[in-house]
Amino acid sequence: MDMGIKGKTALVCGASAGLGRGCADALAAEGVNLVIVARTPPKLEEAAATLRAQHGVTVQTVACDITTAEGRSAALHACPQIDILVSNAGGPPPGDFRSFTVDDWNRALNSNMLTPIELIRAVIDGMISRGFGRIVNITSSAVKAPIDALCLSNGARSGLTGFAAGLARRVASHNVTVNNLLPGGFDTDRTRANVTALAKEANQSVVEAMAHEMRKVPAGRLGTAQEFGAACAFLCSTHAGFITGQNLLIDGGAYPGTF
Ligand code: NAD
Repeated sequence: MDMGIKGKTALVCGASAGLGRGCADALAAEGVNLVIVARTPPKLEEAAATLRAQHGVTVQTVACDITTAEGRSAALHACPQIDILVSNAGGPPPGDFRSFTVDDWNRALNSNMLTPIELIRAVIDGMISRGFGRIVNITSSAVKAPIDALCLSNGARSGLTGFAAGLARRVASHNVTVNNLLPGGFDTDRTRANVTALAKEANQSVVEAMAHEMRKVPAGRLGTAQEFGAACAFLCSTHAGFITGQNLLIDGGAYPGTF
């Protein structure tokens, strides 16, 4: 299916690896020109070169920390017209809430709530004036079902979710949609690092720990960045103009509820 977004421009954050990279790939495959952001220049340039070679689109790179004001400014200045925004940054660390200080909470809120809101604030009026905009926030299944050790993520991402729900209704009449993608378990560098740490704690091999994670998922496996990207590209398509204010859980059936 042609997504109808060829020639549009997307800002994709956290795009050198993992879920952000999956989104960048899927959008580029639809002919979307990209501004991609990540912190490590060589890895980012490598991703950009592959995207250009595979899809023939324009790919600008901005190596920065998107959770800083300077980083956001650099990313936004790289392209004055952003039609599609995919917000994404690293998740906060795990731990018991008693161990976290106000500074820890402020860092989590900054990364996983205020950074997407600041990016949205910068791009939304242009989207409204052009009559087309697609905003996709990468959040987490933790928004739907809190994860015990990830209280910082449960809290900060829920704040973004509430904000996005309100905003979506305010801008819907301009063909600007705001949706969130909620990943469950995906096979990314971050997941492999987390599972390696869990294996060490439990005195298990990484293979055993990974098998344990997969047993929790009815699909019997982790998701792929390609599957995640495909969902993102659809939400950004012209066909998805009537889908807004939604939270799409992509978790291989791990969430046990009916809704
Ligand atoms: P990843 O570590 O595999 O990739 C993250 C990408 O974002 C990399 O390109 C990295 O360079 C970039 N990045 C991270 N912090 C950044 C920053 N401050 N500024 C600019 N670039 C930054 O991670 P992932 O697994 O793709 O996860 C992406 C997001 O989704 C995270 O917030 C994570 O907590 C969340 N999430 C992931 C899963 C999963 O199973 N992978 C599940 C739930 C939630």
